[in-house]
Amino acid sequence: MADRHVDHLLIGGGLASGNCARHLRENGDGSILLVGREPEPPYNRPALTKGYLAHTEERAMDYFRPPEFWEEQNIELMTRMNVMKIDTDAHTATLMNKDVITYGNALIATGANVNLLRVEGMGQEGIHYLRAFGSSDSILEDLDKLGRRVTLIGGSYIGCEVAATLSRHGCGCQIIMLEDLPLQRTLGDDLGAWTRRHLERLGVQLHPGESLASFEGDGERVTSVVCESGLKLETDIVVIGAGVHPDTMLAKAAGLEIGERGGILTDANLRTSAADVFAAGDVAEWYSAAHESHIRVEHWDVAFNHGRTAALNMLGQDVKHEVVPYFWTDMADVEIESVGPAYGWDRVILRGSIDDPSFSVWYLQGNRVAQVAAVGRAHDIEVGKKLIAERREIPTDQLESLGNVEFDVACLA
Ligand SMILES: Cc1cc2nc3c(=O)[nH]c(=O)nc-3n(C[C@H](O)[C@H](O)[C@H](O)COP(=O)(O)OP(=O)(O)OC[C@H]3O[C@@H](n4cnc5c(N)ncnc54)[C@H](O)[C@@H]3O)c2cc1C
Repeated sequence: MADRHVDHLLIGGGLASGNCARHLRENGDGSILLVGREPEPPYNRPALTKGYLAHTEERAMDYFRPPEFWEEQNIELMTRMNVMKIDTDAHTATLMNKDVITYGNALIATGANVNLLRVEGMGQEGIHYLRAFGSSDSILEDLDKLGRRVTLIGGSYIGCEVAATLSRHGCGCQIIMLEDLPLQRTLGDDLGAWTRRHLERLGVQLHPGESLASFEGDGERVTSVVCESGLKLETDIVVIGAGVHPDTMLAKAAGLEIGERGGILTDANLRTSAADVFAAGDVAEWYSAAHESHIRVEHWDVAFNHGRTAALNMLGQDVKHEVVPYFWTDMADVEIESVGPAYGWDRVILRGSIDDPSFSVWYLQGNRVAQVAAVGRAHDIEVGKKLIAERREIPTDQLESLGNVEFDVACLA
């Protein structure tokens, strides 16, 4: 027996759900219930490695909307609550408190979980992952309590951003990473080299080509990080950034189709394989016409825009998600922006030089632009976005011969 009915049930208390609720309300008057397991209302996670970790932003500044917004908009917000099960035939969801909700339609926006490492010495005090406010809070507490030597495991976004933020605030930061260069896997060699130099100027020590073997400690707290090569780094704190995976537990148990990239498979309207169930944000693997394939990313901008697309479709409109994914990373107030994503490329064109204050990197697959990443070149990002959206074949040699001058799509006839 169901305890009650809602028109729109939003599962997951993050940005995708939050923005979906907002657009459902702006465009309709049905009942909305947003269920999230964290204690906070939806908030912006990017601050966790940046302003919030640097103590320059208060928690409330990072909320997606102020706490009173939800009640004012007649959106029921249930925090500290898990959805345990959904039955897509019966259109019901069972909550942690055993309440059963029937829904008209539902959104699954359960986000992503960090990849856990299984090495000797895990579980000691001072070792952290970073995904939620709680994790940033414990890092800040440990900096006061244990000391300010910080080792980052992984040379991707989390590792680089945390190292940049904490170095600027007086911590001694070191990064160990498998790659030769930071951010190399997603941004290649040019931006990898630029990032290495940027981090080194901030005082970060990088240890490329190193694989974590174990953590040593005094029985309670971590004291050093040991690599397979024998390299041993003394440390007070460890922050692990070893990637994330979409949280599909609920979706899998409900029998929803899962894609090759591990996310919940949807069409271009973010509809899953179950009737009246949509997916959005980090957990969704949606059909992108610009890529002629299903894609999945973990970008703030995508979760935000997915929220709107899902809401309009939940209200019966027919809206395809056509926004080209945009991402930014900020390392001590210096940003790399990117549109794409490229899951591979066969040629790279560098416009400008990594020694310039601004430059861009163009990642090509055949005659098409798969991704553009840039420092201080918003115009190139816009042009790249148009070319990716239109799947335009371009004369790539002409792009190269344009050198460093600003150009528009029309120049690539
Ligand atoms: C530290 C950090 C820094 C970042 N920095 C950047 C950046 O600089 N630029 C950028 O573009 N992106 C950045 N991102 C990525 C961006 O924040 C994410 O893409 C975005 O938060 C995804 O939103 P979401 O709503 O899909 O998922 P999430 O924000 O993960 O929200 C999902 C929520 O659902 C909850 N949940 C899961 N299962 C259930 C359940 N069964 N019942 C109830 N609740 C459930 C989860 O606990 C979570 O609170 C960063 C992410 C992190 C973690």
